[in-house]
Amino acid sequence: MRSLEDIADEIRACRRCPLWTHRTNAVPGEGNPNAEIMFIGEAPGRNEDLQGRPFVGAAGKLLTELLSSIGLTRDEVYITNVVKCRPPNNRDPKKEEIETCSQYLDEQIALIKPKIIVTLGRHSTRYILEKAGYKVKSIMAIRGKVHEVVFGDLRVKVLPTLHPAAALYNPALRSLLEKDFQLLMSLAKKKALGQVSLDEYL
Ligand code: URA
Repeated sequence: MRSLEDIADEIRACRRCPLWTHRTNAVPGEGNPNAEIMFIGEAPGRNEDLQGRPFVGAAGKLLTELLSSIGLTRDEVYITNVVKCRPPNNRDPKKEEIETCSQYLDEQIALIKPKIIVTLGRHSTRYILEKAGYKVKSIMAIRGKVHEVVFGDLRVKVLPTLHPAAALYNPALRSLLEKDFQLLMSLAKKKALGQVSLDEYL
C-alpha cells in the first residue's frame, strides 16, 4: 500500500486535470498521519498555492483559532482539501475536477482512517456525504449534524460545517461554526475518554 508521502509526491507531479497549468504548488495536505480527526476543505487559495500548504491564509487562521478553542493543534489533526490545486481566481472547483482529484482524497482517508471527518463547506460536504448515499440539498440544513458514513472498510462519523471563509466577516455564521466545533469537542472527548461507545453516535 502507498504511504501518504507517496500520494503527496504524485499530487505534486499530477497532470490529470488542467488545474496543474495554473498552479505554483499543489497542496496535498498536512498533519498527523494517524489523526483521529480529518478536516476537508474545498481547494487551495492564493496563499496555499504559494506555500504548498493547506489553510494558511485568512480562513486558515480562523481554522487554527477554532482548533485551539477546543484544545487541538494543527499537528494533531490532518487537514486537506477535495481539490489539491488552486482553481484560477478561486473559482468553484468543477464537477470533473472534483471527480478526478477526489481519488487522492479517498486514498488519504483510507490510509489515515480517521474516526471523525469534518467537512468544511458545501463542496467537501457534498462529495463525502453523496458518496455515502445522502442527498445534500443545502449546507445550512445539514451542518452541525453527525452522519455515519461507510468508506470501504472504514466506518466514520462525518460532521459537516461551514467553510471558515464564509464566517470571516459574518459574526452570525462564525457563531454557528464555533457551535459545530463545540460539538466536535464533545464527540472527540467522549471517544477519547472511552465514556461512550462509538455506536451510541451512529
Ligand atoms: N480554502 C480551502 O477550502 N482550502 C484551503 O486550503 C484554503 C482555503
